[in-house]
Amino acid sequence: MSECFLKLEGVAHRYGEGAETLTILEDAALSVMAGEMVALVAPSGAGKSTLLHICGLLERVQQGEVDICGRASSALTDRARTQLRRDRIGYVYQFHHLLPEFSALENVMLPQLIAGAGRSAAERRAAELLEAMGLADRAAHRPSELSGGEAQRVAIARAAANRPQLVLADEPTGNLDPATSEKVFAALMDLIDNEGAAALIATHNHALARKAHRVVTIADKKVVPLVL
Ligand code: ADP
Repeated sequence: MSECFLKLEGVAHRYGEGAETLTILEDAALSVMAGEMVALVAPSGAGKSTLLHICGLLERVQQGEVDICGRASSALTDRARTQLRRDRIGYVYQFHHLLPEFSALENVMLPQLIAGAGRSAAERRAAELLEAMGLADRAAHRPSELSGGEAQRVAIARAAANRPQLVLADEPTGNLDPATSEKVFAALMDLIDNEGAAALIATHNHALARKAHRVVTIADKKVVPLVL
C-alpha cells in the first residue's frame, strides 16, 4: 500500500476577527498519497492559496492537523517546521520567483547548497534537472534572458532539486500561453512521476486538471471531489 505524504484533518482557517471574520476552511480534510497528483480547481477567492500555504507549512494551522510524510506539524516550533518544509516540500509559485542575479543552473543549485549538498553534486543534479526540462542549453542564462515558460520550468527544476516528497504548485501555468502551459504541466507531471512524489496543484485550466489522477475543489469550506 502506498504511503500518505500529505494529510489534513479537521483543518479550519479564518481571516480577521469578530464581525469581520472570514472563514475559508472549516473541518477540512484531504489526503494525497505517494505518486498521486491531485488538481485543485476553484474560483478565485475560494481559498486555494490559503490551502496550499497551509499544506506547505507557510501558514500555521489554526485548528486541526497537517501531516507531512506521516509527521504531525501543528505542534512543531517554527524552526522545526521550516526544516520539515525544506526537507520534504517543493513549492512552485505562479510567478517563477527565480533570483535574478543567478543563472538558471545556480538557481537550481541553491536549495541543494542550503540543504548541505556539496557543490559538484549540486551542480550535477541541477544540470540533470535542467536537461530533463529541455533546458540544457539555457543553464547559463539569467532569468531575464529566459521566456516565461523557460523560467517556470527552471522554477519547477528548483522545486524538485532536493527530491521533495510533496510538490505544491499554485497556478504554475497561470501566466503562460496554452502551448507553453501544456509543456510546463507535462514537465511537472513527469517530475512527480519520476520521483514518486505526491502533488497538489492549483490550476484554472480544466484541460490540464483532467490530466491529474483526481480533481478536488473547495466548497462549503471543505475540500471535496470535483468531476470535470
Ligand atoms: P484563491 O487562491 O482561491 O484566489 P485565497 O486563498 O487567496 O483564494 O483567498 C481566499 C479568501 O481569503 C479571499 O476572499 C481573500 O480575499 C481572503 N484573504 C486571503 N488572504 C487574506 C489575509 N491575509 N487577510 C484577510 N483576508 C485574506
